[in-house]
Amino acid sequence: MGESIDKLLFTPGPLTTSATVKQAMLRDMGSRDFEFLAVVRDIRQRLLSLAAVSSPDYEAIPMQGSGTFALESVIGSVVPPAGKILIAVNGAYGRRLVQIASALNIANGVIEWEEHQPAAPIEIERVLGSDPSFTHVAVVHCETSTGMINPVREIGEVVSKRARRYIVDAMSSFGGIPLNMSECGIDYLISSANKCIEGVPGFAFVLARREALLSTAGFARSLSLDLLAQWKGLESNGQFRFTPPTHTLLAFHQALKELEEEGGVERRAARYRANCEILLRGMREMGFEEYLRPEFQGYIITSFRYPRHPQFKFETFYGRLSENGYVIYPGKTSKADCFRIGNIGHIFPDDIRQLLITVRQTLHEMGVELSAATRSVGRGEKR
Ligand SMILES: *Cc1c(COP(=O)(O)O)cnc(C)c1O
Repeated sequence: MGESIDKLLFTPGPLTTSATVKQAMLRDMGSRDFEFLAVVRDIRQRLLSLAAVSSPDYEAIPMQGSGTFALESVIGSVVPPAGKILIAVNGAYGRRLVQIASALNIANGVIEWEEHQPAAPIEIERVLGSDPSFTHVAVVHCETSTGMINPVREIGEVVSKRARRYIVDAMSSFGGIPLNMSECGIDYLISSANKCIEGVPGFAFVLARREALLSTAGFARSLSLDLLAQWKGLESNGQFRFTPPTHTLLAFHQALKELEEEGGVERRAARYRANCEILLRGMREMGFEEYLRPEFQGYIITSFRYPRHPQFKFETFYGRLSENGYVIYPGKTSKADCFRIGNIGHIFPDDIRQLLITVRQTLHEMGVELSAATRSVGRGEKR
């Protein structure tokens, strides 16, 4: 009973959670009751300490909805009417930030790299130097579409030097990759409940530098996603302005305690890194190739190229793994055929070893024998 009844999710969220996190939801709590308000207060404090910052210089603001809602809340609430945002893009999540700004009619500029290349601080600096109309810069920390880690600290240095505001989508990295928000010069950091903190979906959160946040009065383009109003509501009476996902918040509170028990972000990072190393070794042994060069590859999620073998069909591969209790993730690269395997969630090295055994069996059953000649699709693609 408990954790074994569900398939294991090797996905970037929703992901596998502990039985105790799920059990924490088996309560009905009043959203205005003092017990619930104490939970929310503790969550907000713990989130700040995960980013190595504290109140009153920084504030944690939970926001209902999935991660994208919180991204939309930030972009729509902090860029002034005459502002303009520069968005660094090297994958689908960077492109989503552009979609958000465009949907909100916020002036934006895009600086784009190939999906297998990291965002380059020097090029961002050049654009900021030549176009004074940019007021904000946004970048994705872990580009979950490939697993790329963008250099948020180095980008932060050029953004600070050029005195712009800095927004980081740390959705799939926060809590799993150590990060000091103040040292990286980040004004707004966004993440959600169902990624590295290993909670269940239902809300996201924004960590904001207070001085930046306080300067945004009147900018919000939405009522429900108004970041400053959400913060003011929480500050005035500890409550959400509109119905909070009470059960999700209880699960998240438990997940934060379990993160602390595990030894904090450093220890969790060590587990994810171990998961990833075992995965890479096993997949390479079978002849799979990663999409990214190792130096750009984070340990959150890995993209593998489809093997070049006539018998390999992703749908069959995926289906058989799922029947055996292992859920992997389709690819999200625009120019290469890939699938992804996530290393985050309540999964451990032994789970990865079991997954690898099942991958090997599945390939065998499909009649896919990988040799040097068949290794991967798109070898010739420029990297
Ligand atoms: C998961 C994720 C999001 C948010 O996706 P939702 O489906 O809205 O939760 C945004 N950016 C990145 C980098 C992500 O990994």
